[in-house]
Amino acid sequence: MPPDPSAAEASLLPLDAHDPVRSVYVHVPFCRHRCGYCDFSIIANRGELVPRYLRALERELAAAAPPDGKPLMLDTLYIGGGTPTLLSVAELSQLLELLARYFLLYPGAEYTFEANPDQFSREKQQLLAAAGVNRISLGVQSFDDRYLQLLERAHSSLQALRVLEQLREHFTNISLDLIFALPGQTLAHWEQTLAQALDLVPPHISTYALTYEKGTRFWGARAKGVLNSLDEELESEMYRATLSRLAKAGMLQYEISNFCLPDWHSRHNDVYWTGLPYQAFGPGASRFVAGQRETNHRSPFTWMKRLEAGCTPVESRDNLTGEQRARELFAIGLRRNRGVEKALIQRITQVDAAALLRQELDSLLARRWIHETSTHVYLTDQGRLFADAIASEVI
Ligand code: SF4
Repeated sequence: MPPDPSAAEASLLPLDAHDPVRSVYVHVPFCRHRCGYCDFSIIANRGELVPRYLRALERELAAAAPPDGKPLMLDTLYIGGGTPTLLSVAELSQLLELLARYFLLYPGAEYTFEANPDQFSREKQQLLAAAGVNRISLGVQSFDDRYLQLLERAHSSLQALRVLEQLREHFTNISLDLIFALPGQTLAHWEQTLAQALDLVPPHISTYALTYEKGTRFWGARAKGVLNSLDEELESEMYRATLSRLAKAGMLQYEISNFCLPDWHSRHNDVYWTGLPYQAFGPGASRFVAGQRETNHRSPFTWMKRLEAGCTPVESRDNLTGEQRARELFAIGLRRNRGVEKALIQRITQVDAAALLRQELDSLLARRWIHETSTHVYLTDQGRLFADAIASEVI
């Protein structure tokens, strides 16, 4: 039987790709150090560049501001990175003031900051809370210092626990990021990580399998045999353990990697997954506005230089055809437990995606990776293990 749309998914926004933008992402590309597995658009250990980044960001925000100069009203604002909380108190203040000049939040809006446990002082936490930030996504990754060191994270397990305790004074909506399928990790070790996370009773948990991206130190180490990826079957077992352990604790899975207590889902991510428009700023940031997707240059230096020269930081622009958009929405939608609503995709794209994808869907049905009803298509439990492969087939 298909899973019922959970309570966590009940408060979805009305869907229309040409609605005005009500969601914004801002990429803050600073980190203390580049973790061995990271291929994000970041600058490591160059804090002196923050003022230059803030000036460039202001230029980008000003260029996109409406002609009437009024701040954009938002349902969700998400500040990610990088490590936005690495900025000094003074720099963080400047960033928050800049954002407040261009964006106003509707009552009940979701305002998220990504954070890492290191250099996230009480003063910074208070500053965020005072500015209206009401959701923190904390990069804990592991509670085992040996693995934190292997991942080249800049914090210890104890630091994560301390910061979490402090955060509770100001925030209730806290998400923990955890990584599994670490080199040499056992199923028992991952289950212990999950148990430790659940003991902290966070309303939201995101879990990701470690990936070896080309160009990262981990990619090179694996090629030399210094690091070994985990056996695929063990990785699948860890994923299955995640589903069962978190479900037992009352956490609803609402997307392949995301779990929450009822009503604590990330509303910002829902915008991406539903196909609603969103604005984005900063190096490597991608926006989807009026049916067009644009992506900024992913090098923070090129992004800054272009803005300083009065040029656009946009590196690529795609006007997706209805067919491309339908395929994309189908692939993204399948990652969610609520599945893909065929009529909704047709409404947005004017394309009958189920007919367009008939051959692919029949092949996925034959492998029992999807379940199809007259209105929806869902991944089966087995299909969830192959979500990335299924997305490639659909797109
Ligand atoms: S903290 Fe996150 S963004 Fe920064 S280097 Fe590590 S993985 Fe990348």
